[in-house]
Amino acid sequence: MRLDLHLHTTYSDGLLTPRELVAAANAGGLDVIAVTDHDTAAGIEPARAAAREAGGPRVFAGAELTCSLDGEEVHLLGYGIDPTHPAIAAFAARGADLRRERLAAMVARLNALGVRLRVEDVEVEPDCRSIGRPHLARALVGRGVVPTFQEAFARFLADGGPAWIPSRGPDVQEGIAAVSAAGGVAVWAHPALEDARQFARLRGLGLVGVETLRPRSEPAESLALEHAAREAGLLCTGGSDWHGAPPALGSWYVTERHVGELLGRLGVPS
Ligand code: AMP
Ligand code: ZN
Ligand code: FE
Ligand code: FE
Repeated sequence: MRLDLHLHTTYSDGLLTPRELVAAANAGGLDVIAVTDHDTAAGIEPARAAAREAGGPRVFAGAELTCSLDGEEVHLLGYGIDPTHPAIAAFAARGADLRRERLAAMVARLNALGVRLRVEDVEVEPDCRSIGRPHLARALVGRGVVPTFQEAFARFLADGGPAWIPSRGPDVQEGIAAVSAAGGVAVWAHPALEDARQFARLRGLGLVGVETLRPRSEPAESLALEHAAREAGLLCTGGSDWHGAPPALGSWYVTERHVGELLGRLGVPS
C-alpha cells in the first residue's frame, strides 16, 4: 500500500482542485491520500466524491492548522477529523480572517519596498478558504515583478524575508483540543530537530504523533526525530506536503511499515 498523508488543494494554497488531486493520486499509484489543507477541511468532501467516482484512492480527512508555540509558528495536522465539526469550523473561520489581515499587511510591506501591487491583484480560486504566501508569489510573477515563484520567495516572501509576516495562529493547545474534539489524531507537521525538546510537553497536551518522514529530509534527521518521538511516546507519520509542482504525486510515498500505528488509530485494518 502506497500512502501520502500531507497534501494541499485549491481550498488552500495547492494548485490542483480536490478532483484533480484525486486523479493525480490515481495516476501516481497512491492507494491512500490525506487532504490536509491549511486551516480548512472544506476540500475533503469534494475529494471523497471524486474518489468514489474514480474508484480510489481512499481519502483520509485532514487539516493543517496554523498554531503558535511560545510565539513561534507551528503547523498541526489533524487526521481523521469530522470535517464538519464546529471546533474545526471555528478554527478555520478565525484562520481565514487572520490570513486576510496578514495578506493586506504583506502587500503594504511590498508597497513600502517599491512594488506596485494591490490586494485585489492577488487572485485566488473561488474555492480557496485559506490565502497564503504562494498566492502572493503567483501574483508577483503574474505582474512581472519577479520572473519565477521561487524568486518571489527568495527576494521577498521566505521566512525572514523583507515582506514576510509570520502567520499568527491560536496556541497549539487550542489546536490539539480542536482536533481531539473533532475526533481526530493530532500530529506535529514537519518539526525541526530542535523542536524535539517540546515533544513530551505537547504529548501532555494531547499530541499523538510527529511527522518524521518527508521527501526532502535527511535520513539522519528523520531518524533522530523518530527516536525523539518514540522516547516521548509519540507515533511517527509521513507525507510529502505536495502543493502541485513537480515532481509528480506518487513519486514519493510511505507504506504501512512507516505509518501502521497511525492507520491503527484511524481504524484501518492492517
Ligand atoms: P503561508 O501559510 O502563507 O505562510 O505559506 C506557507 C506555504 O508557502 C508553504 O506551505 C509552502 O507552500 C510555501 N513556502 C514557504 N516557504 C517557501 C519557500 N522558501 N519557497 C517556496 N515556497 C515556500
Ligand atoms: Zn502550503
Ligand atoms: Fe506546513
Ligand atoms: Fe503543508
